[in-house]
Amino acid sequence: MQFISKSIPANKRVALVAHDNRKGDLIEWCSRHRPLLAQHTLLGTGTTGTRIEAATGLSVEKLLSGPLGGDQQLGARIAEGQIDLLVFFWDPFEPMPHDPDVKALLRIAAVWNIPVACNSASADMMVQSALMGSDFERSVPDYAGYLAAR
Ligand code: PGA
Repeated sequence: MQFISKSIPANKRVALVAHDNRKGDLIEWCSRHRPLLAQHTLLGTGTTGTRIEAATGLSVEKLLSGPLGGDQQLGARIAEGQIDLLVFFWDPFEPMPHDPDVKALLRIAAVWNIPVACNSASADMMVQSALMGSDFERSVPDYAGYLAAR
């Protein structure tokens, strides 16, 4: 497999999602990193985005609620190259009716080599990386070459 490099600018597009039992954790995390997050472009699933905006005053582009297609919208944005980081606090204790969508979102993030944080420790490390505030070269498999060779 060949790889190509994608330039990610200093202003990152950060996707935010939390399952209901984890929304409080994500809001606390966003509040803690509010000054940093305010320098980037935020989007999220509907309820998560609404609650983050209400609690922190940050501006979040709100897609549909996750169970209504919001996770799939985020997956499509990733495939289109519109998301640079995914912060997804998923619930390890509750099965979800939309678990297939959750799995699909995590899968497509892996396909496109998108940094993913699933808890506050990984999210802390991700946003405190020096790469957060600078341009970043993300290596992506050259799927065009892969498909042409099939
Ligand atoms: P929500 O969706 O932000 O609309 O609650 C999150 C999810 O469950 O995927």
